[in-house]
Order: sequence, then C-alpha cells, then structure tokens
Amino acid sequence: MKVSKKEFNQIYDLEPYRKEAGVSVLSCEKINDEDRRHWPSLTSQTAYKVVLDKTIFYPEGGGQLGDMGLLGDAQVLDTRWGYGDSSESIFHLTDKALDIESDVSAELDWDRRFDFMQQHSAEHILSGICHKHYGYDNVGFHLGEDNTTLDFDGPLTWEQVRALIDEANRVIWADRPIKVRVFDEDPSKGEGISYRSKIELKGKVRLIQIDDADLCACAAPHLSSTGQIGLILVTKLENWKKGVRLHLLAGKRAYTYVQESQKILDDLSNLFSLPILSIPEGIAKQEERLAQSQDRIYQGQNLLWADLLNEDTDQVFYLDSPLFDSDFAKRQIKAYKPEKAGHRLLILIPVNQGLSFYLAESSPLWIKILRETFGAKGGGPPQFSQGFIGAKELNADTLAQAIKDRLLAESVK
Ligand SMILES: [Zn+2]
Repeated sequence: MKVSKKEFNQIYDLEPYRKEAGVSVLSCEKINDEDRRHWPSLTSQTAYKVVLDKTIFYPEGGGQLGDMGLLGDAQVLDTRWGYGDSSESIFHLTDKALDIESDVSAELDWDRRFDFMQQHSAEHILSGICHKHYGYDNVGFHLGEDNTTLDFDGPLTWEQVRALIDEANRVIWADRPIKVRVFDEDPSKGEGISYRSKIELKGKVRLIQIDDADLCACAAPHLSSTGQIGLILVTKLENWKKGVRLHLLAGKRAYTYVQESQKILDDLSNLFSLPILSIPEGIAKQEERLAQSQDRIYQGQNLLWADLLNEDTDQVFYLDSPLFDSDFAKRQIKAYKPEKAGHRLLILIPVNQGLSFYLAESSPLWIKILRETFGAKGGGPPQFSQGFIGAKELNADTLAQAIKDRLLAESVK
C-alpha cells in the first residue's frame, strides 16, 4: 500500500498501541548537509535516514515530536516526514546503517509515546472545552519532552482556567472513548460536521472525537479513552499576544508534579511545625515577627546614632560594626537635614578590599580630595553621593583614619 500523508493507513494510525512490528528496509542513506539543515540537533553526529515498507513510528507533526525506539539493534533517534521529492516518505533517523531489503524488528519507545499520547489527548479535551465555552481557538501547541504549552487567542483569568480544568478532569474520569473517524472529503462541507482545525483541509480528513468535549482534525496517535489520561493540571497561566498561554501537565507528568509538590509541602510543614493547610498563615506570622524585629533594630540604631551625630560641624564616621551596614548608612544620609546647611556628613563602611562611602551635603572640595588623594570612584547629587574607595596596601581602618584626618583638617581651615 502506498504511503501517503493523506491516507492515514500507517500502523501508528490504525493501531496506536502497537509497540512492535516486523518491517522491511526499503532504503538507507547516510545523512548529508541538506538533511542536517532539517535536523539541526544532529550537527556532527553520523546518522542514517531509513525508509521502511510500513511503520509504527509517528513522524513529528501537529505539535507532537517524532517517535524513538529501535530498528534491529539500531537506535531510532527521531522520525520525520521527508522533504522535497521525498515529502511522502517517512524518515527514521538511526545511529547505524541497515541493510536494504532486510527484514528487521521495530520496537517503539513506548513509555515516551504513551506520555505524548497522554499530553496530546489532554490538550484536545482542554482546547475543545475552551472552544465550547469561549469560542477561542488553540493557535499554538507545543508538546516537548517535559513541558507542554497551549496558546488560546483570547483572555482567560485563573478562575476561568480552573473551571475549564475542573470540567476537563470530569471528562477524564468519565472515561469516554476517543474515537477516530476518517472521511474521504471535508465533512464540514458534505456532511455539515463542524470541527476544530488549524488549517483548511483538502482530501481525506481524520477527526478525533471525544463526546461533549471535542471534535478536531488531527493526524497524531491518541489514547483510546479519556480515563487513561488520569489527571490534567495547569501549572502556569501567562498573557500571550492577544490571549493566554497555558502550561499543561497530564498523566504521569501531572502525577510526578503532585508528588514533588507534596514533598516540598511536607518539608515546609516540618520547617514551620504546622499542618500543610496552615503554612500560609505560618508564613504571614513569621513575616510579621520579622518586621517587628527589624523595627526594634532600627529603633536601637537610631538611638545610638542620635548620640553620635552632631549637626553643627562636619563629621566623618567609620562604622566598623555588625550593627551598622550599608542600608543603615544610606538611610542616615538620605534622612540627614542639618538645621544650618553646609555641614557635611560622611559615613565609611568597610567592604571587601576597601570602603563604601556615603556622603551628604558634599562639597566640590571633599569630592576632589576623595577622588584625587584616595582614588574614590562614584558620585551623585550633593545631597547624596556614594561610591567605593579601594584600600590598596592599607587596611580599611588605617585608610578610614587617613580620610577622616585629611577631610577634617580641611574643615578647620
Ligand atoms: Zn491530536
């Protein structure tokens, strides 16, 4: 029987659960530069494109990746439709050459394919339900090795998405059959059947039907009933062009996600010594306690600082204490408003290999000395300058003392 994209008569079309088959090799060629352009992931790898008389391997298409597995003892790395003169051929990309006209056993990487069938069938349900309620089209579907995204051409809130997932899961638990029907001509014309399709179809049309959920043209292998999906989750909702992008997990992926989330919740529950449902309350209380502690620290710092500060003169402080940090220095410099303008305030804080400086009411002279004598880098408006002074061979204490002596000597003049 002639292989054609349009015939839907391959083994994977007719028997999507078939994991093994005896097949014959029609051709086997080493891939060339032109092929590599079509398989950019195989830049340097030696590989072969094998055409078979029939196949259980689904070639990439409709957002679903090509199948993998074994042909004899050769690994099937990918499966794709050919291009150019070979556009009706299915290329099995293998890591070893196979003898032409030999009979080999084909073995599908079934775990991977079943996972794709779970994600893909779940996508049909969610897209169909969304179309039914909002009239939106699924305008982008990507089924990756570990993530699946679904783009709709209209806005949805989380609340609306949750309602859709609820309904999708009810369809799953009802274990409805997923039926495949092939029509010789577009059934929307002759038979007036309305179905979802990304493109206008010519020739034969293959429809995937899930009662009360979806009717959609699609060429990929699907599950035979919705119950095998088990569970569907949406883990992320983002704005996408004029609509939304949903990140979808179904089947084993959803189960794994729930298990991993459960582990994180258990860890948090132990950390807070609280039952899982009380964790948000526990975090809120912890935040409140932190804010109170921070407040007490600020009050203590401010009391100490009030004793140190003298607004009637220029002042240089070297604050080498865990009690005072850069945030403290910035706050004080911002808050510094001497009754009589012109009294400068410089705070030095030791940092890795030097000092951070924070300066209020700066003058061109102080900045000049800091830059030219001490090699300071940085600046800012007169009310708030900041930067870094490298200590070079001096230690921070000695450098701070030298800066203090030099600047205050200038003030006395
Ligand atoms: Zn499909």
